[in-house]
Amino acid sequence: MYYQSTRSDIKANSLEAVLNGIAPDGGLYVDAALAERSFDWEKCLSLDELGMAEMLLQFLLPDFDDMAELTFRAYRNKFENNRISPLVKCGDALVLELFHGPTSAFKDVALSMLPQLITAARRQLDIKEETVILTATSGDTGKAALEGFHDVEGSGIIVFYPDGGVSPIQRAQMVTQEGRNVRVCAVRGNFDDCQRGVKEAFSALTGHSHGKRLSSANSINIGRLAPQLIYYFSAYAQLVRDGAILMGAPVDYIVPTGNFGDILAGLYCKLLGLPVGRLVCAANENNVLYDFISTGTYDARRNFSRTSSPSMDILVSSNLERLLFLASGGRADAVSGWMDALKKDGVYTVDARTHEQIRSWFSAGYADEAATRRTIARVWGECCYLCDPHTAVAMSVLDDYRHSRDYSGAPCVVLSTASPYKFPAAVLSAISGEAEGDEFAQMDALHELTGLPIPGNLAGLRDKAPLHTDVIDKGDIIRYVDEILSSGGFEKR
Ligand SMILES: *Cc1c(COP(=O)(O)O)cnc(C)c1O
Repeated sequence: MYYQSTRSDIKANSLEAVLNGIAPDGGLYVDAALAERSFDWEKCLSLDELGMAEMLLQFLLPDFDDMAELTFRAYRNKFENNRISPLVKCGDALVLELFHGPTSAFKDVALSMLPQLITAARRQLDIKEETVILTATSGDTGKAALEGFHDVEGSGIIVFYPDGGVSPIQRAQMVTQEGRNVRVCAVRGNFDDCQRGVKEAFSALTGHSHGKRLSSANSINIGRLAPQLIYYFSAYAQLVRDGAILMGAPVDYIVPTGNFGDILAGLYCKLLGLPVGRLVCAANENNVLYDFISTGTYDARRNFSRTSSPSMDILVSSNLERLLFLASGGRADAVSGWMDALKKDGVYTVDARTHEQIRSWFSAGYADEAATRRTIARVWGECCYLCDPHTAVAMSVLDDYRHSRDYSGAPCVVLSTASPYKFPAAVLSAISGEAEGDEFAQMDALHELTGLPIPGNLAGLRDKAPLHTDVIDKGDIIRYVDEILSSGGFEKR
């Protein structure tokens, strides 16, 4: 098998696809034959989480030599109780908790693995140049990537986050990051500006520069997407084991969505044979994806809202491009046209058949700020379960979905993507009506009110000094990257 660009017939093997991050024509790497290759999904379900990870990653990234060793190194002793994705009951919903990793967000599942993949690809391809990871973050990718890449031999990492556009805890997590090869920079703009700047830096610096190669830790990188299939399988296996479903029965998944990476992994699982029923895309007030799935028109010309679920504050959702490729039957020319229109006019409409294919896989809903807040309070009141705002968006959408025509009565798994302690102000004020003091005082108050333990990595931030204070204009991302590359180093200025 090979990977190809979503925009042309440029090809790469899986090592090159991971190392490049993005195809030279600006497209994303996809396996056009994914649905035709046969995968023993029932065998995969019989394995433990590490076994699942190895089998899925070996299938998606077959050129890597020793996936067993790589998955072991990535996941062993990284997650609380060595469980990557425990499933818990909350009323009549099932919540898949993906936030028990080192930075308390689901990004840890993929970003524990990505550094292993990049290091292995460098070794196998005999790359001597340093690899510099460029990352735009809406809050959680940044820290999880820093955690994965700091002090990794032969790599450096630069993270851009929207100034004022992440929660204070998310910011503290990033700006206190230690490591000789890391840089963190605030951008005066929103996440879309950061993501656009990073993509432009890739084009401008043509993939490598000053003896260094650029790669990406965003979910445009297939090495970031692939590990995310694990938890859809893990959730399904847990349901079968608990006797909640019979093997082969469909399960719906409700996914809080921003860049469309998490939910796309669910579609990959479905294409590999896992009995995924409907994939429900849950958006916040930035509901461009809800509109697109409903109508077939993607219109990014709208106001950008800053919400309490900042990791979903996105208007240009990168991984949708992979969906367009799959849903259009692999028509790179069509995808390329839509992406051009998006860039030029901010809007495109897919043809009716492509839209129909998308609708056959996905449902969609959204929750505004009031609904998100209400849901945090309701879920806490009804089942003593504390949701972070992203999870609350999905819980709210689940409620609407159950009353919609799309709902078949299948069990519904809600993906819970972050610890509530990453967003203490929003969560505390939703359940108690007020949130006084700084974010650490709010964490303490939340702990006192609920008795839930504060994750060690978040509690520890209190005593750490900020190390990264750079702030730049959104037009200066390329220059900022070029300066670091050309000065040859990551040493603190
Ligand atoms: C990144 C993130 C999301 C959105 O995931 P995508 O793969 O970008 O769609 C949702 N919730 C949280 C907490 C996140 O960090």
